[in-house]
Amino acid sequence: MARDLYEVLGVQPQASEADIKKAYRRLAMEHHPDRNNGDKASEERFKELTEAYEVLRDPQQRAQYDRFGMAGVGGGGGPGGFGFAHVDLAEALNIFMRDFGGFGGFDAIFGGGGRQRRTRRRGQDVRASVRLSLADVAHGTKRTLKLRSLDRCDGCEGSGAKPGTATKPCPTCRGTGEVRHASQSLFGQFVSVSPCPTCRAEGTVLSEPCPDCGGDGRVRKEREVELDVPAGVDTNNYITLRGQGVAGPRNGPAGDLIVEFDVEEDPRFQRRGSDLVYDLQLSFSQAALGGDVTIPTPFGDETISVEPGAQSGTVLTLRGKGLPNISDGSRGTLYVRIQVWTPTKLTPELHDLFERLSTIEGEPPKEGGGLGHKIWEKMKEAFGT
Ligand SMILES: [Zn+2]
Ligand SMILES: [Zn+2]
Repeated sequence: MARDLYEVLGVQPQASEADIKKAYRRLAMEHHPDRNNGDKASEERFKELTEAYEVLRDPQQRAQYDRFGMAGVGGGGGPGGFGFAHVDLAEALNIFMRDFGGFGGFDAIFGGGGRQRRTRRRGQDVRASVRLSLADVAHGTKRTLKLRSLDRCDGCEGSGAKPGTATKPCPTCRGTGEVRHASQSLFGQFVSVSPCPTCRAEGTVLSEPCPDCGGDGRVRKEREVELDVPAGVDTNNYITLRGQGVAGPRNGPAGDLIVEFDVEEDPRFQRRGSDLVYDLQLSFSQAALGGDVTIPTPFGDETISVEPGAQSGTVLTLRGKGLPNISDGSRGTLYVRIQVWTPTKLTPELHDLFERLSTIEGEPPKEGGGLGHKIWEKMKEAFGT
């Protein structure tokens, strides 16, 4: 013989519709099979609650039940023939989902096909900075980063529970991970939802914390992370390594590791993206006579030939000798800007030579700026400086 349906739900016979709904919701949550690891007694209770709720939530059914008892709603073999029915677990779960599945926080708890999905706290992000030389940028490189941070505790496999003990539903929020505060307003009941302070929205609390980590699920460890630095990075570029940051408490998702690059200034070059500018100093005689000179590139020294009569400000364009472009791997340009160097201290011998030269060299052109200047102007335009 079924118990009194009001008693099943723990409400008074004069309870309002809202009270019945609320009582069912609360008890059904507590005995929901998802939350009790398929415990048989909970399952039976969940079905019983659902059966009672199905009758009492409907005003017509409820009136029949109030007048005639179980007989009025088809239970106990009476003539009613409708209303009360024994439900199996799948039906009970469907009824619960039908009425509460899309109701505020319930989605978060029983979403994803009825499985629990409470908040798991995420670990923090970690920032690291890696200093690189221009050669590192030219070729790309590998680095091993040593991180000291909180990592999963081996003693409890990150659960925070002492091995052999279990977690239990949080008594404050009954495992929902959130607490609801109802208050009356002019427009009816107003419900606010906030994360449960007792379990920090996790829904469970420990019966005994793991002695290694004190229940946090994490211990301080040192660990190494291998980092591939792609060619062509620049200062302030960064790489995000998902899940390589601090582990989340109690098996929560790990934060990210964000590696920022800091490329050392190379006194030999000015850098603009993947292009480089190198100032080549030539002596008077080198500039006048031309010849082979050795210049540095990010990939090693190279020999280039300078035409006789090279002017200060002339720019030589060495395509493909700049830095790799991080987006497509193509290489930028190395601009070699010629500067004719004037000696500042003359030995008596040099002084004599320059005096002799001055009598035979002739006048320089009146208009300044040869072809080299024009190229330099164009280059500056291209750089936007
Ligand atoms: Zn532990
Ligand atoms: Zn809680």
